[in-house]
Amino acid sequence: MTIYTNNGRLIIPLVKRKKKAQKMDEDKVRYIVTKAYCPKGCNIIDHEIDINGFPGIRIAFKRDGMEGEFVVSAIEGDFDKKVLRGELTEGAKDELYCPHCGTAFEKLVNCKCTDGADMVVIGLTPKLNFNNAITFCNVTGCSNGAFIKSGDALMHVRLHEAL
Ligand SMILES: [Zn+2]
Ligand SMILES: [Zn+2]
Repeated sequence: MTIYTNNGRLIIPLVKRKKKAQKMDEDKVRYIVTKAYCPKGCNIIDHEIDINGFPGIRIAFKRDGMEGEFVVSAIEGDFDKKVLRGELTEGAKDELYCPHCGTAFEKLVNCKCTDGADMVVIGLTPKLNFNNAITFCNVTGCSNGAFIKSGDALMHVRLHEAL
């Protein structure tokens, strides 16, 4: 659907974005990551790049024949990404690195979506603490991800994966 105003300018309604905003309002309260660090302590929040209204988390990726960088939404449960360099492929697994120092992110457990998929951990404190971190799958398109806020959550992830 397109709409023309009386001065002839074209307006493309942001239907998709509106739906999404509504859906988020209906959902439970979501957490926003405001601090995120690589295993060596580099700050990886990118204040230059907003995704859905908040500065994103910048991550470098590498797989056979491809490397680049993306910024992923800092909103819990939102996996919107902006690719800055290179290409992400649906269903492909990438090794994830700090964009500043090149250190690989720690892996917590395997994700069941694909053979060899990993849940990668990103710390919310400069010194990695598994009780204060987020985790998400390193396969593009997999929506497996969670906030880890306590040892219980970590155990839950392990138990869930062991089933
Ligand atoms: Zn780093
Ligand atoms: Zn996965």
